[in-house]
Amino acid sequence: MCADFTRIRRFLDERDPPTPCLVVDTDVVGARAAEFRAAFPGALIRYAVKANPAPPVLDALVAAGIGFDVAGPAEVARCLERGAEPAGLAYGNPIKKPRDIAFAHDRGVREFTSDAATDVDHLGRYAPGCAVSIRVVLDAPDSVTPFGRKFGCDPAEALDLVLRAAALGLRPGIAFHVGSQQPALGAWEIGIATAAKLFAEAGAQGVGMTRLNLGGGFATAHRTGVPSLAAYAATIESALGTHFPDGRPELLLEPGRVLVADAGLLRTEVVLVADRGERRWVYLDIGRYNGLAEAENEAIAYRFEPVETPAGPAGPVVLAGPTCDGDDVLYRRTPYELPLSLRAGDRLDLPGTGAYTASYASVEFNGIEPLRTYCLGKWGDA
Ligand SMILES: *Cc1c(COP(=O)(O)O)cnc(C)c1O
Repeated sequence: MCADFTRIRRFLDERDPPTPCLVVDTDVVGARAAEFRAAFPGALIRYAVKANPAPPVLDALVAAGIGFDVAGPAEVARCLERGAEPAGLAYGNPIKKPRDIAFAHDRGVREFTSDAATDVDHLGRYAPGCAVSIRVVLDAPDSVTPFGRKFGCDPAEALDLVLRAAALGLRPGIAFHVGSQQPALGAWEIGIATAAKLFAEAGAQGVGMTRLNLGGGFATAHRTGVPSLAAYAATIESALGTHFPDGRPELLLEPGRVLVADAGLLRTEVVLVADRGERRWVYLDIGRYNGLAEAENEAIAYRFEPVETPAGPAGPVVLAGPTCDGDDVLYRRTPYELPLSLRAGDRLDLPGTGAYTASYASVEFNGIEPLRTYCLGKWGDA
């Protein structure tokens, strides 16, 4: 999809809300959801709420018939409040307290993910009879924002957990997540091969599995291109054909950023431009703590487009946030150039920022309020 931010820019120009702010077009969210469904016919789709939990975004997805991947009680409650069906919720966070499991189960959630024996035992006790996908860690290329070893168990342990879950009366399946913003299509092939092996091994021990959770990770374009949804779907389809020749498992997908990133645009104001020795520093009113957390390690390199600065010669800059924290620097190594005429008070647009921005903003570090979101379109509130 080629994102078009005309409507958002018109809103910003007409309403001129204080910066920084994020504007999300809920019609684009709905359209993206429809595209995703079309790319993966028959799969159960569970939007990862943490990418952007704004109620109008959830409303657009409920209307599109999408379910939700929730990480805890607050996300369970919010999705139900917006009209999601409990049966369409998947509790995808392997890190949870027994009372969180009980809360979700009490509200009708019947699908969980786990990667440790203690958590499987908790599920057996507090979510009896539920579906549980055992998350396996992959020997696959790192994504742009990898999970490292925080989640997932080795295949050998995954098999033990599958058998343990079955013995407790749970309905086991397999899950993996290739890491967020994963442009390497081969990662899904590795995941599906790993899962197929576990399906076969569990089957040999009398435990039949039907459900495969492919997680999220579908990338969105910022300064460089990424594979299309069609390319991701073709790879997954071909890997399923190769590794599950005797019949496909039922698929569950947990897209986050790919459903919302291109529906949003963030506007920021230049607070200060300062020449410091060799380098020109541009300080913005948006930084690591009020929306651009994914600039950590310069992992996600957003686009910065001047709003009013006339075209002219440009030069290299370091981009930094507004707070009194030495780590609140956005890009020091990643090469960025901005017009030499850029001044304090000028504004910049960051297109494609509907995911993992507002939801990452701190409450009042240095007294700065969380990133304000305005939602446009059919489900909008602005
Ligand atoms: C964050 C998360 C996702 C979504 O990942 P994206 O890269 O945004 O698609 C899906 N599943 C789980 C379990 C997650 O934690």
